[in-house]
Amino acid sequence: MKVHILGAGWAVPRGNRSKTAILIQDNQEDNKILFDCGGDVAKGVSRFDVGYDKIDAVFISHKHLDHLSGLSSLLHSTWLMGREKEIPIYSNKPTKKTISKLISLHDLNEKLDINLNSLSGDGIVNEWGVEYKKMDHQVETHGFRYKDITFSGDTKPCDNLIDLAQNSSLLLQEATYPSGFREEAWKYGHCTVRDAKDVFEKTQSNNLGIIHTSPKVDIDEEGKKVDEDVFFPSDFTTYKL
Ligand SMILES: [Zn+2]
Ligand SMILES: [Zn+2]
Repeated sequence: MKVHILGAGWAVPRGNRSKTAILIQDNQEDNKILFDCGGDVAKGVSRFDVGYDKIDAVFISHKHLDHLSGLSSLLHSTWLMGREKEIPIYSNKPTKKTISKLISLHDLNEKLDINLNSLSGDGIVNEWGVEYKKMDHQVETHGFRYKDITFSGDTKPCDNLIDLAQNSSLLLQEATYPSGFREEAWKYGHCTVRDAKDVFEKTQSNNLGIIHTSPKVDIDEEGKKVDEDVFFPSDFTTYKL
């Protein structure tokens, strides 16, 4: 199984970290699942051996722009490449409403067979084996788990995140703020780097990839204080599990 980091950054991109997007390529099950779609995901996908028509399902954590700004563009590219297969998109209701508007705005539903599905509360999408739980953010947000890979979406630390991520091989966890900025981070429904490490320890996961870092996070400095199972991925890195 491969985890391609298409976007490891926050709403304001910097250097080699653009808005959030994670692609899981499970060759064993023949599943290619995209979690969030911020930034130029269409370009990111083209760097890997995953064609536009090969993405099987898209899960969007919440409606903030840094998590879905690349969706219209990805769908448009997919159409231009001749996709005929249905594209299922899963999100909570407020996010679905936003996605629906974007799709109508660009007439994408006339070009593609898009199937919008809503998620509520906690549960599992059996068709893809994706578990989801409600996180604690400014707007309704879901974290996702596929097999032993967990993606937090945007959230402050919460019990649901700790439950969802128990014993993950790889936890991709947001940390928008530097360690020491907990009050500000929690006010806006985010984690600090310290919080991400605390969640990692509580879940007894094997590896922690800290993503969604704002430019306030000095990655070189924070990186000095971490163990070898904790890292700050940059865009276009691939983890094999
Ligand atoms: Zn957000
Ligand atoms: Zn965000």
